[in-house]
Amino acid sequence: MLKLERVSKSYPTPGGALSVLQDADLTLHRGEALSIVGPSGVGKSTLLYVAGTLEPPTAGRVTLDGADPFALDEKALAAFRNRHVGFVFQDHCLLPQCSVLENVLVPALVAPGGPAAHEARARELLAAVGLDARLGHRPAELSGGEKQRVAIARALVLKPTLLLADEPTGNLDPETALTVADLLLALHGRENTILVVVTHSPALAARLPRQSRLDHGRLIEVSGS
Ligand code: ADP
Ligand code: MG
Repeated sequence: MLKLERVSKSYPTPGGALSVLQDADLTLHRGEALSIVGPSGVGKSTLLYVAGTLEPPTAGRVTLDGADPFALDEKALAAFRNRHVGFVFQDHCLLPQCSVLENVLVPALVAPGGPAAHEARARELLAAVGLDARLGHRPAELSGGEKQRVAIARALVLKPTLLLADEPTGNLDPETALTVADLLLALHGRENTILVVVTHSPALAARLPRQSRLDHGRLIEVSGS
């Protein structure tokens, strides 16, 4: 279970603290999925970064299955994030010099057993996203949609509890966006993750069982679970 309790986040700026999140609350259980919409600059990415342990909250508490990751030291926090959180960004963020299979195995580089222990899983995920014939391709040799499919496989390779997607279809044409969204939702269901999707697409937002918008630093649920 992911729990955000009265989470606030402000960034220090030359003009003073910029308050982005204010007493935001969220509870998501295993298998649940939530979309978040809201205008640019409202703090959607910030909320994902705090939930995904990339940014500490300024106040409040974030727990994943009861554990407070921000109580860990830096090294343990990085290991926790690697093990429990998968990110899919708007820009795929693949390593250009690595093959498709190597990119999916990047999180396994610092996981127990190393890449060898996770290769079968990586290959299976790449088959699940329809890229089993592209294992040796470099990112530059893939279409935008294919790159996002690799990013989804990479996010899932270590079986994370939490799958976070920040405008995952933002750079894609409508048809490709639909395919990528289909895969994201199908794999979320299969893997029983907690899924949070930030999107500007009303069509994608509406496909998630729970829907919210970020408004004045708080999450407002617009349809109940
Ligand atoms: P969204 O994803 O909804 O567009 P963000 O979470 O990226 O919004 O940003 C929310 C606000 O916080 C914006 O005004 C942005 O300029 C500011 N912001 C984001 N990251 C930082 C940072 N590291 N330092 C200072 N301000 C930031
Ligand atoms: Mg953003």
